[in-house]
Amino acid sequence: MSLIKENIENIEMKIKAACQKSGRKREDVLFLVVSKTIDVPRIKEAVDCGMNSLGENKVQEIMDKYEPMGEGIKWHLIGHLQTNKVKYIIDKVELIHSVESVKLAEEINKRAAAKGITANILLEINIAGEESKFGIRPEECEQMVREISVLPNISIKGLMTVAPFVENSEENRKYFRQMKQLLVDINSKKIDNVNMTELSMGMTGDYEVAIEEGATIVRIGTGVFGARVYPNKN
Ligand SMILES: *Cc1c(COP(=O)(O)O)cnc(C)c1O
Repeated sequence: MSLIKENIENIEMKIKAACQKSGRKREDVLFLVVSKTIDVPRIKEAVDCGMNSLGENKVQEIMDKYEPMGEGIKWHLIGHLQTNKVKYIIDKVELIHSVESVKLAEEINKRAAAKGITANILLEINIAGEESKFGIRPEECEQMVREISVLPNISIKGLMTVAPFVENSEENRKYFRQMKQLLVDINSKKIDNVNMTELSMGMTGDYEVAIEEGATIVRIGTGVFGARVYPNKN
């Protein structure tokens, strides 16, 4: 059996166990395979195991892989998105996880309108207040939801975070819990057109804890493909 298949089956078992432990249904959690830096043949191995939702953090990589990977793939943009690149991926992605400004949302809205579609987005939250991380502060979230909710060609599906890198995944439990609470709080404000259901949180090191705390999308790269090899930057 290939290593990728074996990895996927192991992760799948752990996802099931985390769902069971927390009284959640397996089908309420999406296992998103993060395929950044991975070449098409290896990604296809994962797709052959039934994994058709793929996460990329760069617009360019989605564009490069879009045709070769063919139909049936649900692409998710999980990395920082520059306003001037929205036009390249607007009709190629299922969900944009990384919206962190009204300005970016306005550009997404404009480009979605031009294509006659509704763009699904998540707002990226810097839940631990790390300086190195993208995302908005939790306190800014409600106001941003209010401003974006009036844009007709955008649907705010929920929230996303990249939790701190930790040795022990338990250290991130409090942040995942805060994310869930933030989602519940904002939904309780009954803002017109806003009913957020998605929580994109948890990566290779901490997806089980994230699921226990309410993640609906876990983004897993290293766990599937092994350590990433980045090309040399001169
Ligand atoms: C790379 C990446 C992941 C996957 O991280 P792993 O630790 O390899 O599972 C998840 N989310 C985002 C935003 C990423 O950039």
